Amino acid sequence: MILLGQAVLGAVFALARRCPKCMRQAVVRPSQKRETVACRYCGAKVPPKHWKEGSG
Ligand SMILES: [Zn+2]
Repeated sequence: MILLGQAVLGAVFALARRCPKCMRQAVVRPSQKRETVACRYCGAKVPPKHWKEGSG
């Protein structure tokens, strides 16, 4: 279904974040989407996106 596809893409986008140091994009686990994670490439801490405002 198209709606399901959009939901999946939205979920993936929400879990993807860009490292501020090496600018590589990484996807975090759903359980970590609100937590700061370490970049898998350079080890820098990548903070979660702001969830209070905007839709991304
Ligand atoms: Zn990095």
